[in-house]
Amino acid sequence: MVATGFDLVIGQLLRTPARRNPDQTIHDGEGGVRTYRQFHARIDRLGAALTRLGLGHGATVAVLDWDTPRYLECYFAVPMLGATLHTVNIRLSPEQILYTINHALDDAILCHEDFLPVLLPLLPRITRPVTLILLSDHPDAPLPPGFAGELETLLVAEAPGFTFPDLTEDTRATLFYTTGTTGDPKGVTYSHRQLVLHTLGVVAAFGPVPGVGGIKTDDVYMPITPLFHVHAWGYPYVATFLGLRQVYPGRYEPARLLALLTAHRVTYSHCVPTILAMLLAAPEAATADLSHWKVTIGGAALPEGLAAQARAKGIDIHAGYGMSETCPVICIADMVSSQTSDDIGGRIATGKAAPLVTLRVVDPDLRDVPHDGRTTGEVVARAPWLTQGYLRNDAGTADLWRGGWMHTGDVGHMSPDGTLRITDRLKDVIKSGGEWVSSLALESLTSTVAGVREVAAVGIPDDRWGERPVLVAVIDGDDEVETAIRARLQAAVAAGDLPKWAVPDRTIRVQAIPKTSVGKQDKKVIRQMLATGEIG
Ligand code: AMP
Repeated sequence: MVATGFDLVIGQLLRTPARRNPDQTIHDGEGGVRTYRQFHARIDRLGAALTRLGLGHGATVAVLDWDTPRYLECYFAVPMLGATLHTVNIRLSPEQILYTINHALDDAILCHEDFLPVLLPLLPRITRPVTLILLSDHPDAPLPPGFAGELETLLVAEAPGFTFPDLTEDTRATLFYTTGTTGDPKGVTYSHRQLVLHTLGVVAAFGPVPGVGGIKTDDVYMPITPLFHVHAWGYPYVATFLGLRQVYPGRYEPARLLALLTAHRVTYSHCVPTILAMLLAAPEAATADLSHWKVTIGGAALPEGLAAQARAKGIDIHAGYGMSETCPVICIADMVSSQTSDDIGGRIATGKAAPLVTLRVVDPDLRDVPHDGRTTGEVVARAPWLTQGYLRNDAGTADLWRGGWMHTGDVGHMSPDGTLRITDRLKDVIKSGGEWVSSLALESLTSTVAGVREVAAVGIPDDRWGERPVLVAVIDGDDEVETAIRARLQAAVAAGDLPKWAVPDRTIRVQAIPKTSVGKQDKKVIRQMLATGEIG
């Protein structure tokens, strides 16, 4: 007898739902539906079609698409061939998209017709030969010159029942680019093993939560984090592994998302705070019943005002924490205590380390700071699913993993019970008179004031104090709102929740807060606008 090892590969995630509930459904935003049985068959055909085009083990296959079930099929078929799925950030500038395609050494590009106006002009500057495949919603769409085919036509031409190759678990599976505040986008990769363990880790973190919290087998899932961004936080793999009914919304328009949430009675989603704020501000939200909806907020801190607004709509909202380099889930709010006490503070706290994750808060010499819920330091992590490095960027990798711990670049503190609270990004900290002011705490407090639609706290240079905090806010209403903001912050000072010197000197009104390509507040741009006098 010879014992057989077992590699953790993405294809394994498909087996359970295919066996248990093959008639469960996956929907697109246009009324299209496929069963898991059909989904599985399409993955086989996609594997066969890509193989016929010479795309197999070691190839890199890029996708530019909206959030569709077709994209989900690529999440499986491409890595199951031993190829790397490059999820292209369609919101980057054309020059940055070109940079990522060239840096990733893409061998093929699957491009939806809506993105042809971006891609076609770039083609002469793509440095390697690429196989081009059109993704179209119209069967008779014209094929642009140089394209190998349209995906649906290629799939129909294949026979059913493709056999994917055996792979080892360390095979690279996915690649996407993170855009920092400086320099070129950085390529972040994950292996099959990491994605499988991340899937199991998320299930282990959410599944055992008693009561209503978490993600369970009777949930209806719809992502509202784009599929190009950190593989939609890994949830499409989780949802497929659990065999959930899934809805892929296409493009993100508030009315459309709300209509899909209601029509499908979606019970679980995840998104960044700004997207949820946009949904709740849409006129259609006033009449939409969202009381069955659970939402995990990540990618930025969950402000108290937004959490309260969501609770008022009956939404079961919790914060999670992670980043592109952490796959991303490493920490989630305590759902047990929020159910027993509906404690908003617990719902918005960054939370507790997910299973198999070690989080530390350290000083610059990598020594733990006291777990007193006050002393801040940098958050560093170890977990089975942290990226092992940036693609072809040794200096960036060495910096990320200095001292054998992954440096998040986030500042926070830890309570004695292990609850982490992020107070800032290292790049965004405001230092006034030598002391750190938590921009996230200022934003969260200000968000609770009626009339404040959105707020960012940033530091501006100050001769006397080095830096002083200011608030940049989108406000509905007149000067009374600013008076109420000052009163709210003074009350926090009186209650001992905020040091006196942390109260911003000014609130600057703006029409809109600049956003990054994934919809988060762009503090670098806000600081630039203040420096140049564009606002202020
Ligand atoms: P990204 O790599 O674009 O996913 O951004 C990750 C960054 O978002 C983290 O490094 C944090 O600065 C921020 N972030 C994510 N989740 C949270 C959270 N729960 N609280 C505060 N900041 C967060």
